[in-house]
Amino acid sequence: MVSIKTDFCLKPFNTFRMAVRAERFCAVSRVADLLELYSKGEFQNKKVMILSQGSNVLFTNHIDHLVLHNEMWGKQLVAENDDFVMLKVNAGESWELLVDYVVQQGWGGIENLALIPGKVGASPIQNIGAYGAEVKDVIIEVEAFDLHSGEIRRFNNEECQFGYRSSVFKTEFKDRFFITSVVFKLAKNPVLNLNYQPLKLAFGDRKEVTLAEVRDEVVRIRKSKLPDPEEFPNAGSFFKNPVVTKEEANLILASFPSAPVYPQPDGMVKLAAGWLIEQCGYKGKRNGDVGVHPYQALVLVNYGEATGQEVLQFAEQIIADVKLNFGIGLCPEVNIYP
Ligand SMILES: Cc1cc2nc3c(=O)[nH]c(=O)nc-3n(C[C@H](O)[C@H](O)[C@H](O)COP(=O)(O)OP(=O)(O)OC[C@H]3O[C@@H](n4cnc5c(N)ncnc54)[C@H](O)[C@@H]3O)c2cc1C
Repeated sequence: MVSIKTDFCLKPFNTFRMAVRAERFCAVSRVADLLELYSKGEFQNKKVMILSQGSNVLFTNHIDHLVLHNEMWGKQLVAENDDFVMLKVNAGESWELLVDYVVQQGWGGIENLALIPGKVGASPIQNIGAYGAEVKDVIIEVEAFDLHSGEIRRFNNEECQFGYRSSVFKTEFKDRFFITSVVFKLAKNPVLNLNYQPLKLAFGDRKEVTLAEVRDEVVRIRKSKLPDPEEFPNAGSFFKNPVVTKEEANLILASFPSAPVYPQPDGMVKLAAGWLIEQCGYKGKRNGDVGVHPYQALVLVNYGEATGQEVLQFAEQIIADVKLNFGIGLCPEVNIYP
């Protein structure tokens, strides 16, 4: 039987360390737990928040409804041939430990995504990506519990509508489906993805690079660049990199020829949000206990007792200044609740 706790402090359950409270909180470890809650009418016409590791959320106030905490452990090899394995992983497994496990098995596909905090069930939500890789490239199927109908639904890769830091679970179906497991297709004879500049630099023309070496290099670079949330509470990149038209990008290049621009396959151009924020003078800037990290302009930090409202106000100030100076609208990557 599931147990619902009341007036539950969420501070240990979010990497921004916001000391908000959930009116009700329930740890869910099996689909049967979700069915039990559904049959008791816990989801019908009621708001519900799904929380995994809390590394991509900002709580701006108390949550006056039920929070479901994803604690679904376990993984299973569901198919295998000479070239690939299909690994079904339950949503509550740690992403970082999964990367370590598959690298150890010699299976390739997610080594570039090492050290991204969070749980497996959250990985499809924003199609996690780093170092030239995105999780969408190895996802075969996402299994999810529909909080509206009480039924399990399986989404194939196309149905997930993956995009840059986006999927159908972050847009049309936000807060509706509880992802219970993900099936990954991993390569037994992987072709390493070393196209991203820092990896190119690290490995040069070297042949025979191993999966473990790629994973270790990604971990090394990330540790040197990103603030550890245990020391400086944060939720990673606060904003998405804006994707603009070629004309908009050219306008910026006319005034700032050194602006980093990344042409996309569809003709659009990705700009570096961190660069835009830095140009507006925010890198290392602090206001009370909220600030922009001195090395990473994309990362907002809670330096002590900042509230979610204060972080949000700071973020809104950054958005307004970038708009004023560049005419570009920044969008948060972090999920803001309530
Ligand atoms: C230091 C740091 C570095 C980071 N670097 C990267 C990076 O390089 N690339 C990247 O893409 N992200 C990065 N992130 C963001 C974050 O790690 C990912 O978004 C991660 O997938 C979030 O997992 P989580 O378990 O913490 O999800 P949570 O923060 O708990 O949830 C995030 C969102 O997903 C929803 N959700 C969570 N679990 C489920 C579920 N089972 N079913 C349905 N909805 C669910 C939540 O409701 C919420 O809206 C970073 C974060 C930090 C703190």
